[in-house]
Amino acid sequence: MKIFVCIKQVPGVSEVRIDPETNTLIREGIPSIINPMDKNAVELALEIKKKYGAETIGISMGPPQAEEALREALAMGLDEAYLLTDRAFAGADTLATSHTLYLGISTLLEKFKERDNYLVICGTQAIDGDTAQVGPELAEELGIPQITYVQKFELQDGKVIVERAFRGEEIVVIETKLPVLISVLKDVNEPRYPTLDGIVNSYEKEVKYLTHEDLKAKKQNIGLTGSQTEVWRIFVPKRKGEHLILEGSIEERVNQLCEKLREDKLI
Ligand SMILES: Cc1cc2nc3c(=O)[nH]c(=O)nc-3n(C[C@H](O)[C@H](O)[C@H](O)COP(=O)(O)OP(=O)(O)OC[C@H]3O[C@@H](n4cnc5c(N)ncnc54)[C@H](O)[C@@H]3O)c2cc1C
Repeated sequence: MKIFVCIKQVPGVSEVRIDPETNTLIREGIPSIINPMDKNAVELALEIKKKYGAETIGISMGPPQAEEALREALAMGLDEAYLLTDRAFAGADTLATSHTLYLGISTLLEKFKERDNYLVICGTQAIDGDTAQVGPELAEELGIPQITYVQKFELQDGKVIVERAFRGEEIVVIETKLPVLISVLKDVNEPRYPTLDGIVNSYEKEVKYLTHEDLKAKKQNIGLTGSQTEVWRIFVPKRKGEHLILEGSIEERVNQLCEKLREDKLI
């Protein structure tokens, strides 16, 4: 079985700056990290490999610096890593991103004999774009079933059995077979830290680069040209919250607070 893990490199800060001229994120000088849920996806791939045997492959679309994220995933224990990187991929929306990932996975699948014996694992959502669209769109492109919000995964006699979070408290148990795409929640596991050996070994492995030519991608389907969405404006909303500092004894402060809450019709 092949397991493809989709890994996105994201800014490692909660507040990003936006260039007002170009409406794009200012990434210079900002540390980057693996999207947190993608670490859960890597961990799940490694757990599945240990339990059932599999070949684990990390795949990312991004600029050359996204190699760092793949290198970290290799250090955690993935077998191989591919970076889909090309100026032609820049400016991709979720549709163009998932199309590029689809081309990457199908190109890699061409070499394998058991072409249906594979699993794709994504994070449920990325902390920067936050749309949760890439996993489902990628499954559609691959023409395989998808199960989102996965918090438990098992393989039994060739059957895939997953638990999926549903409406908060409820859990749905779903059975399907490979190939399938799942997107995982952070509750699925606790990602491991790379060991020293893992880090050293990761530098002995090559992160393989694939361009739009390697993927035989048509320019109208990738990058900004292939994007159906158009960003009109990006801005950080102004914080409207006011604060009130209460002074006096505890009793006086409690009375002032109750008065204010009544005034604002909150009690
Ligand atoms: C018009 C437009 C232009 C844009 N231009 C740019 C740009 O120039 N530069 C830029 O960085 N962003 C750009 N974006 C944002 C870009 O669309 C998203 O970063 C990207 O499509 C992923 O969407 P998301 O972050 O919502 O991922 P989600 O759908 O929330 O991610 C879910 C999961 O999908 C997988 N995944 C998502 N993205 C990738 C990836 N790249 N590689 C591997 N796996 C992935 C991961 O497993 C992730 O956990 C643009 C968006 C629009 C609409």
